[in-house]
Amino acid sequence: MFGERLDRVRAAMKGRAIDVLLLSVGPDLPWLVGYEAMPLERLTMLVVPVDGEAELVMPGLEVARVVERPDVFSIRGWTETEDPVRLVADRIRGVATAAIGDRTWSRFLVALQHELPDVAWSSAGTVVGPLRAVKTESEIERLQAAASGVDRVAAALQGGEIPLIGRTEAEVSAELGQRILAEGHARVNFAIVAAGENAASPHHHAGDRVIQPNEVVLCDFGGTTAEPHGQPGYCSDITRCVYTGPPPSEFMEQYDALFEAQASAVEAATAGTAAEAVDRVARDRLAAAELDQWFIHRLGHGIGVEEHEDPYLVEGNSVPLEPGNAFSIEPGFYIGGKWGARIEDIVVCTDDGPQALNRADHALAVVEA
Ligand code: ZN
Ligand code: ZN
Ligand code: ZN
Repeated sequence: MFGERLDRVRAAMKGRAIDVLLLSVGPDLPWLVGYEAMPLERLTMLVVPVDGEAELVMPGLEVARVVERPDVFSIRGWTETEDPVRLVADRIRGVATAAIGDRTWSRFLVALQHELPDVAWSSAGTVVGPLRAVKTESEIERLQAAASGVDRVAAALQGGEIPLIGRTEAEVSAELGQRILAEGHARVNFAIVAAGENAASPHHHAGDRVIQPNEVVLCDFGGTTAEPHGQPGYCSDITRCVYTGPPPSEFMEQYDALFEAQASAVEAATAGTAAEAVDRVARDRLAAAELDQWFIHRLGHGIGVEEHEDPYLVEGNSVPLEPGNAFSIEPGFYIGGKWGARIEDIVVCTDDGPQALNRADHALAVVEA
């Protein structure tokens, strides 16, 4: 698997005339070789020449963490008194072009630029992003497992198993987090719980507001799956809304439009359709209900080893979807000071049409005290 990924990366490097790829902290490295760099001050850097052996330059004291794959890369542990930037620079001296991981700390890039003043630098995202955006079957299986896990948490929420009224948003958020872990995730990436007027803030931070009867509670949560050591985890991301009492008809009408916007956008996400066209399908449906002015974010984002990655479903991205793309479809409306709602699923584009990985009920759940 990793050897095959490395081949694809090298082919993409050739296509872009990139002589060497340098990956450090961030998700590109675990996706490519199964090792996640510690986000600390000591440099870890995978050096991938377009022709020639890949080498992981890393702190010697962390070498024991690595699952070795000698057929894919070798390891050069550096001692506490060596200069790792010099080590990397010595390996690539003479190259004309280098692509460096998007999350690499700037102090390392600045030091490398100082060592190698003639190199033309670009961002590794342009090489690795399009490859990561097309998932293999086994990656889709991991995303499905992640989605099924959070679907069960959503079902517990919708079924009233997770008490809401009288608890703070933060308490509910903590319970969502515990359940995400119990469902086979290694970590919780976020658990937004936004009650009443707080639901009008798409990235609301769950706080000490106590959930009341007769209000909307928007929950958006996800994590990264637990995988065997040396295998990257995959992300989940779902949003469902619950009303703590009978919803007012004005809210119900708006929610119905949102429901249709979300479902029609999922249907529209076929191979060959421009990413922005799928965004437009949802936006047009919300416009028909005069809600488009309140839909203040893009329709969705790709998902994989990272919560947000290519492809982005947003006006201006005319790149057509292709089989293997996995992304969120998450329209919403956010009416400041009043309320808001969002429905979010992870969807995979396949030759046989769009396939939603999340299947938790999309209807507005009503729970009472
Ligand atoms: Zn978001
Ligand atoms: Zn989300
Ligand atoms: Zn999302």
